[in-house]
Amino acid sequence: MPVERAPADGPAMIPPGGIIGIIGGGQLGRMTALAAANLGYRCHIYCPEQGCPASHVAAATTIAAYEDQEALARFAASVDVVTFEFENIPADSVRILSRHVPVRPGWHVLETAQDRILEKSFFNSIGIATADWRAVDSLDDLRRAVDILGRPAVLKTTRFGYDGKGQVRIAPDTDLALAYAGINGAPAILEGFVDFEREVSVIVARSPAGEAVCFDVVENRHRNHILHQTIAPAPIAPDLARQADAIGVAAANALDLVGLLAVEMFVTRDGRLLVNEMAPRPHNSGHWTINACATSQFEQFVRAVCGLPLGDPRRHSDALMTNLIGDDIGEWPDILREAQSCLHLYGKTEARAGRKMGHVTHLLPLGKGGGAEA
Ligand code: AMP
Repeated sequence: MPVERAPADGPAMIPPGGIIGIIGGGQLGRMTALAAANLGYRCHIYCPEQGCPASHVAAATTIAAYEDQEALARFAASVDVVTFEFENIPADSVRILSRHVPVRPGWHVLETAQDRILEKSFFNSIGIATADWRAVDSLDDLRRAVDILGRPAVLKTTRFGYDGKGQVRIAPDTDLALAYAGINGAPAILEGFVDFEREVSVIVARSPAGEAVCFDVVENRHRNHILHQTIAPAPIAPDLARQADAIGVAAANALDLVGLLAVEMFVTRDGRLLVNEMAPRPHNSGHWTINACATSQFEQFVRAVCGLPLGDPRRHSDALMTNLIGDDIGEWPDILREAQSCLHLYGKTEARAGRKMGHVTHLLPLGKGGGAEA
């Protein structure tokens, strides 16, 4: 279904004083709104829930469903540009937004990032390697795909999966009928299991004029499928980091993306990079940049979306970022007493298990962090 794009994607530059519309009201929107305020912008948040973290720090909030066409049209008419901190919004909603205002990044980027098959096909089509994969739409497809890719493998729903949701590991003894039942017949993808050495990610910012700059490549460590720690920079050889940058920039260019693109990759034991997934927005693995770089990922996002000159992405410190998940938030008094620890809390009232409540970035002298091993 084609989605209209705003004429020439609107004015190249939205100067400070403008209003940025953000779809989604979580912590990514909150930290974007804080960075936008530092540059003299106001943010208007659009999200379905009352009291969302971004609304606490935004100039305005619209509470409405992502499918509410009238609310979307009113919202779009009240802002100078629309961007996303959450990408699972329907095509029709983006079409309505695009009638009124530039939408950055554009619909085609969101569409590609929403669906694991479109996403992997995109990377493969520009010569970027991923795990081997097969589309799975039935139990028979799954049996055939497992015959081809072998075990272990990972079965994932093509859409709406994050933090390990909608995923089933196919072990040597896994019953395929049960595994398929586990995803409730949703369209799926089977991926060959990557026996990786580590997971890394790169965040690229790209302006309307096509200028692209990257933050340092970082290593990400997960617990229970949720990001636990980011080590900046990643302890990898400079040549591999350059390859990761090149992958990020090639993807952002091929998508003609305006904004931020985070690309998550596996480093295989024989030193190759395989792309796992991408997110066309600020990313949890970039939170360290708030305290360790002159320009944070959130400021860079605002600069890119508003067509301002991009900032210097270099780090002035090494960093270790740790997410505060669920009850971890109780550690805040101790963190406040630690030297060189920067605490960020998202203002969420209920500390449910698995919920990202905040993060802490521990700063280390340049060259003394994880990258010192490389
Ligand atoms: P995802 O939702 O695709 O980001 O997957 C969540 C996490 O599951 C990743 O960060 C990896 O730790 C693990 N994972 C996902 N896909 C694979 C794969 N094909 N092989 C090995 N581990 C995987």
